[in-house]
Amino acid sequence: MSLFSRPQVRRAVFGMGCVLLVLTVVVATNPRWRNRANPRRWFRPKPPETLFDFKNAMLRAGNPTLKEVVITFDDGPHRESREQILGVLNRFHAKATFFEVGMRMEQNPDLLRKTIEEGHEIANHTMFHQTLPGLKPDTLHKGINEADIVYYRFTGKHLRLLRPPGMRFDNATLDEAKRLGYITVSYTTAAGDYGDHVDPKVVVDRTLQKTDNGGILLLHDYPATAQALPEILDTLTKQGYRFVTLEEMIQHLPPKERRDALTYWNKSSEAAVGQRPVFLPTAVSGSREKKL
Ligand SMILES: [Zn+2]
Repeated sequence: MSLFSRPQVRRAVFGMGCVLLVLTVVVATNPRWRNRANPRRWFRPKPPETLFDFKNAMLRAGNPTLKEVVITFDDGPHRESREQILGVLNRFHAKATFFEVGMRMEQNPDLLRKTIEEGHEIANHTMFHQTLPGLKPDTLHKGINEADIVYYRFTGKHLRLLRPPGMRFDNATLDEAKRLGYITVSYTTAAGDYGDHVDPKVVVDRTLQKTDNGGILLLHDYPATAQALPEILDTLTKQGYRFVTLEEMIQHLPPKERRDALTYWNKSSEAAVGQRPVFLPTAVSGSREKKL
């Protein structure tokens, strides 16, 4: 008589099969468990050792003990997607950070105004989305500073956070950013959500697989991202994440890094921001007369 022909063994195997089936259904239908069961999550890169790099004034990640993330949207404001993104953020009571391109703020001041009015954080992503390494000092300076001038003309305030396009930088880029008083902001999770034919499902998966405590999520102000956003926010909300701005993330850093970041922010950055030129010698991209 083989082992499987015994009724009690058959019942035990059947019972275990049922338990496994129920567990699979529970894991597959619950976003929190589905994310935990994903093997790619087990090999997730560790958070950077230095959360705030004082020498380069660069924020790499937030506090790894806190269940909070910053959602950042680069490259806008775009007419095709900004309002939809704002609508989704509003629905989830989430605040985000928008790394804006100066030229696009000039083209779409109404979208910039709406984003500010809804309580989101605005940051600098250069005037024309230039690749910064290798530029002559004067061109590098203008690339960063002209976006600030556009923002200042609309709001009377300066930008304090910078992300170089493509996150490409060299020592000259970081030195100029510091000289102008910026904190340069890196990211922990990139969805690769730019270019043509982006599948919103891929944006959702790439974002959720890598999101962890203190994460800085790099997304873009494009239609596929706007379509992906409800599922991203819904899942992260169910997993218990809070959505904060970069300024809040800096305030929540562990004590040493918080001290470093705030020392830079309140002293050297504040002084440098006060020295920034606020007028353009010549117009660089169309009308400078638009006001919010
Ligand atoms: Zn960009």
